[in-house]
Amino acid sequence: MSLQVRSQVSLKPYNSFGVDVKARLFAEAHSDADVREALTYAQSHDVPLLVIGGGSNLLLTADIQALVLRMASRGIRVLSDDGSKVVIEAEAGEPWHPFVQHTLMQGLSGLENLSLIPGTVGAAPMQNIGAYGVEIKDVFAGLTALDRQSGELREFNLEECNFAYRDSLFKQEPGRWLILRVRFTLDRKAHLHLEYGPVRQRLTEQGIEHPTASDVSQAICSIRSEKLPDPAVLGNAGSFFKNPLVSAVLAATLKGQYPDLVAYAQPDGQVKLAAGWLIERAGWKGFREADAGVHKLQALVLVNYGGATGLQLLDLAQRIQKDISERFQVDLEMEPNRY
Ligand code: FAD
Ligand code: NAP
Repeated sequence: MSLQVRSQVSLKPYNSFGVDVKARLFAEAHSDADVREALTYAQSHDVPLLVIGGGSNLLLTADIQALVLRMASRGIRVLSDDGSKVVIEAEAGEPWHPFVQHTLMQGLSGLENLSLIPGTVGAAPMQNIGAYGVEIKDVFAGLTALDRQSGELREFNLEECNFAYRDSLFKQEPGRWLILRVRFTLDRKAHLHLEYGPVRQRLTEQGIEHPTASDVSQAICSIRSEKLPDPAVLGNAGSFFKNPLVSAVLAATLKGQYPDLVAYAQPDGQVKLAAGWLIERAGWKGFREADAGVHKLQALVLVNYGGATGLQLLDLAQRIQKDISERFQVDLEMEPNRY
């Protein structure tokens, strides 16, 4: 028996909001064997199992009456290398940003725009993490997951994951798939994506005309550090709402009323609105009630000034949703996973 199961463990250090709730049972999985042991333990003790990684996309609203299993498996390996494309695999518990740095240090390009995203490799497919015009689906080579219903291992290719904007099969079938390891196809020759947001401008300011993938990563790290609160300093779960996709008709109506509306036409005819703009325009930026608030610099980020409960944060989020719906006829969807 290598799995160490503890009772009544505070989850405060294990969620980036820093919400103080307890797990009835808590364990860390360092291997596939630990995962299987945890599943057996949960079954035999008749408790649900909740898998977490870095806890950076969670809103915990009550004590968790489950065995909380934190993925802590480590390991990175190259599976194939034809001199141009490299397939690299990482275990679910590998911290995401150090993994990105590792690939860059090997001279591999593809993940640079996803620098400084908190969390683990195993959680990255859950919402097809994305930033600055790149999503993991763009470099995804496959993953291995455990089907918690049958106990069998299953390999997934790109098509089978149903990746979409902040979405995947794994999010659509909550609690079924336990992701064990993920594979990416990376390039020895960089194909950089610089046209999104202020990336190119930052590189120009730094005097970099012909950037490498590492230059792009560093530029994105510097932009993110200025704009986003560090969860170690101020509790948060990144963007609290997804950017809403609305019809072209509604977008045009809103643009008529608000000429400075931030909107991006999508290939399918829909229009993506910047949720942060809507929330800021509605006056919520910098709002604070007790210890729950809206970040001063980025209205899309809800923050915990220290003692906020998950329910207080949820209440604030629901008030924002109602206000945005009444003002703009736009429904905001929460991004973090709620338990
Ligand atoms: P957790 O929060 O621990 O879990 C998230 C969900 O995945 C839960 O439902 C959990 O049950 C499930 N899960 C976790 N691990 C596994 C596994 N191995 N198998 C099956 N299910 C699992 N996201 C973006 O997309 N882009 C960004 O740019 C971005 N920036 C952020 C910036 C900040 C400051 C913060 C705090 C968050 C940001 N996020 C961003 C959100 C978050 O970092 C990502 O969603 C990240 O992938 C979550 O990883 P995690 O390990 O912390 O997952
Ligand atoms: P930003 O650059 O201020 O832009 C605001 C929003 O407009 C972004 O959310 C982005 O949508 C969209 N956008 C910007 N340029 C675009 C373009 N050329 N084409 C289409 N859409 C465009 O955003 P930010 O808040 O500083 O975040 C920067 C990036 O990091 C974004 O990609 C964002 O998603 C990501 N991020 C995500 C989280 C999270 O928790 N999910 C947290 C922090 C940052 P998209 O979000 O669809 O890209």
